[in-house]
Amino acid sequence: SQFTDYELSSEILKAVSLLNFESPTKVQELVIPATLKERDIIVKSQTGSGKTAAYGIPICELVDWGENKPQALIMVPTRELAMQAKEDLFNIGRFKRVKVSAIFGQSPFNSQRKELREKTHIVVGTPGRIIDHLTRGTFDLSMVKYLVIDEADEMLNMGFIEDIETIISGVSKGRVTQLLSATMPERIETLASEYMKDPIITKI
Ligand code: AMP
Repeated sequence: SQFTDYELSSEILKAVSLLNFESPTKVQELVIPATLKERDIIVKSQTGSGKTAAYGIPICELVDWGENKPQALIMVPTRELAMQAKEDLFNIGRFKRVKVSAIFGQSPFNSQRKELREKTHIVVGTPGRIIDHLTRGTFDLSMVKYLVIDEADEMLNMGFIEDIETIISGVSKGRVTQLLSATMPERIETLASEYMKDPIITKI
């Protein structure tokens, strides 16, 4: 299939073409149409599969530019991944002027707080720092509609599972949830069954 098969605006298609993505990867073929239809999805997939653009393309398409509060939250295990995902999302959303913030530990809290107070559509963050912002009231989840749990098994191994549950519980029930994981340990299966609605389950 081709990117033009999906219901994507010219701004997003132009960005995808500037990135030299000729055709969707397997993960993208599964995740892009499902997310555009606002279905929950579980993806068993590795890095290098194009998974960031798989959730990034439909989320950049779906965010409402005129809304100032965050509409999408992407949880990743490390600061490196947070910075990388922020850059990828910026590139996908550049012609729509989608604003992306990254929040992670070992980095000044106050500059992140300032970013969160300004217009931002998508927030990428590590669970510990997301919790810090929620606890201090500097991150408003009330408009978050798209939730991505990326590298779920890694976050489990790093001891983040309770933080993740706390964060998910703060997001509106009407959300769309995407869970990506290289492996599916039982604890992650349980998380999915407790917090996802009739998810599409894919294995690449
Ligand atoms: P990821 O799995 O998200 O870490 O992506 C791995 C690499 O594949 C990144 O450098 C992306 O820019 C690239 N990529 C993602 N989607 C495509 C695509 N459809 N065609 C070519 N490269 C892609």
